Amino acid sequence: MKYTLNFLLSSAVVCLSIATSTTVLAKSTINDDKFRQLEEILPTPNIYRTASGAPGHKYWQQEVDYEIEIKLDDKTQQLTGSETLYYKNNSPDNLRYIWLQLDQNRMGRASDFKLTRTAPADKITYSGFRNVIETETFDGGNRILKVTDESNKALPYTINGTMMRIDLAKPLRTGAEIEFNIEWTYALQEQKVLGGRSGYEYFKEDDNYLYEVASWFPRAVAYYDAVGWQNKQFLGNGEFTLEFGDYDVKITVPADHIVASTGKLQNPKSVLTKTQRQRLDKAKKAKKPVLIVTPDEALENEKSRSTKEKTWHFKAENVRDFAFASSRKFIWDAQGYNKGGTDTMAMSFYPNEGNPLWERYSTEAIIHTMEQYNKYTFDYPYPVSISVNGPVGGMEYPMITFNGPRPTLDKKTGEKTYSRRTKYGLIGVIIHEVGHNYFPMIINSDERQWTWMDEGLNTFVQFLAEQSWEENYPSRRGHAADITEYMKSNNQVPIMTNSESILQFGNNAYGKPATALNILRETIMGRELFDFAFREYAQRWKFKRPTPADFFRTMEDASAVDLDWFWRGWFYTTDHVDIALGDIHLYRPDSQNPDTEEAWERALENEKPEFISNLRNKGHWLRTQDKPELLDFYNEHDKFTATNADRNKYNSANKKLEDWEKALLTNKSNFYIIDFNNVGGLVMPILLEVTYADNSKENIRIPAEIWRKNTSKVSKLLIRDKEITAIAVDPNWETADVNVNNNYWPARPIKSRFELYKRKKDDMMRDYNKELKSLDDDEKESGDDK
Ligand SMILES: [Zn+2]
Repeated sequence: MKYTLNFLLSSAVVCLSIATSTTVLAKSTINDDKFRQLEEILPTPNIYRTASGAPGHKYWQQEVDYEIEIKLDDKTQQLTGSETLYYKNNSPDNLRYIWLQLDQNRMGRASDFKLTRTAPADKITYSGFRNVIETETFDGGNRILKVTDESNKALPYTINGTMMRIDLAKPLRTGAEIEFNIEWTYALQEQKVLGGRSGYEYFKEDDNYLYEVASWFPRAVAYYDAVGWQNKQFLGNGEFTLEFGDYDVKITVPADHIVASTGKLQNPKSVLTKTQRQRLDKAKKAKKPVLIVTPDEALENEKSRSTKEKTWHFKAENVRDFAFASSRKFIWDAQGYNKGGTDTMAMSFYPNEGNPLWERYSTEAIIHTMEQYNKYTFDYPYPVSISVNGPVGGMEYPMITFNGPRPTLDKKTGEKTYSRRTKYGLIGVIIHEVGHNYFPMIINSDERQWTWMDEGLNTFVQFLAEQSWEENYPSRRGHAADITEYMKSNNQVPIMTNSESILQFGNNAYGKPATALNILRETIMGRELFDFAFREYAQRWKFKRPTPADFFRTMEDASAVDLDWFWRGWFYTTDHVDIALGDIHLYRPDSQNPDTEEAWERALENEKPEFISNLRNKGHWLRTQDKPELLDFYNEHDKFTATNADRNKYNSANKKLEDWEKALLTNKSNFYIIDFNNVGGLVMPILLEVTYADNSKENIRIPAEIWRKNTSKVSKLLIRDKEITAIAVDPNWETADVNVNNNYWPARPIKSRFELYKRKKDDMMRDYNKELKSLDDDEKESGDDK
């Protein structure tokens, strides 16, 4: 300590920061430039995608329109359909073939999904075990019956797993359009048994089915500038990468079914009763949901077994996919929402099993989602927004979402009840799935490649929407502190990992990116800059297909905040945040006045504890007590006494100083130097809450760039007249710091509980046997078998 101070004596105050960096760091640490720009990783900008993250002046995308007729067989749970596909080649390339997705082939016999599924853990639920067995035998693959061109001539095609290639007689020129026809059939899967994002649910009590139908027709694979044909097989996680287009769909179902679907109903007069149409009309301007089919009417419908059929005709413009649901069990409510550029009908379809939860929350949650998402992105553009309750836990399609949570039946009282978890689970999942209309249904990112681009961004806006539902809404994901357990876990891959290879899927693709964006908004960019840039991204890329680079670049381009370090750390590594408070030093300028300085040295000496031997020696015999003549000048004055020579030297040196220099020497401020260690690896802003002796507090927010020249250790100088009594790093837990125990000065105890329990006799015997066995094993291992 003394050495440092003397060192300081000879240097000016301005050199303080240099004075402290005496630690020698490994070269690799010093050169680990976490602020290196991302150009070396990101694709080179071009005429299709600019360096600012916007679509380029030659941006293009394909357009695929569909005319489909589909028939649902309620007896066999089979779908049979035919479609005409109109493919418009807007690319600058000539295409010799066109790839289609047959995602249903995932459930075909010996599919890649089934073959690459690894063995289950030996501890497994009943339903998990049933799923393992049933998946082996179920054949739900797509059977292609016919592929023909516009003049009904057979077209050659090749099926490779979940993809089908149609070979064209002559290349499809840039700007040209082609049409062809496909007929197909496949068996729907029982969702509760086989899982998946669609399927049917069977209700034993009333012998009825509820269908949620998706990925049900051959769809054109996305072809785009950055990837070409998106030719990754569907293994179950990487969802759908599709083109925008217009749909004309006719759905034939039993006459007593109610159909909920993507698109606008074209023939209400032939499928709805007059009462239903009147109620729908009333719903347009209603202040709360209006029942189109009441619970009693739905119960009555459940008993019906019509042998007739009805065809529901829907049209949808500028959508990337199409899904529907059908059942005679549906209650149906609706409420119009018309604000800004949004003019839509929010609608919910649910069986009586969904009440009392669904009638209270579903349609309200749809409207809440649009209201909130519109603020952060763009106005919801479609004519309907639907939430359906069925077997699928949560899944999104354009204009329609499938949401699972339902109340449970209390067997004692016979009443239906729902837990806190189910209530917030339902509101949360509806906000999430309806939110997917924005990401990726309209901001059409490549889901098969990047799950985070839709799930992460959507989960982030979901969090914002949830937080405006009620005060302290219990969001699962979004708050920084909720991601720390994951961030410090071992079994991790970076966010920038392909959808099918992600470990800890929910945390990686939903939780971490959503939290990262919330941290950008609250901590790094601030709400104003973030919201503008995020909205800019949404506006630039609505009805277009962005890539990660387009997002990264837009966020910087629209905010003038260099975030390359943030993308690099949070999206390309598995480092975590752990900033530890290091030493705290208190400095003053050395006055050079020997009287002042010696007195200070003496005070410092007196602050030291007394040595143990000195303490115990108190009062023992001393030679100088018997012979005081041995004492001299040096015993009278301690070693901290200034001499006249010192004083003369000081006076003459002082004369040579300018007034401002003299003033610096007598500066009475406290110069606190606070050391910080980056234990976790991620560089982040350092957020400080400083408490002073008078109990006042100060918050200091230091940008992450403080780490730009040394990413493992930095020191910060605070010049304050007041005395600091406490320091907290990240006092509001906003940076996802995984270990806050090293964030406080003075340190705080880590509070916990001992949990006491009684040991059962059986456990004791089991432990005893285990111990005996491990003793055996030890003996075996130390034997000579090795
Ligand atoms: Zn999702």
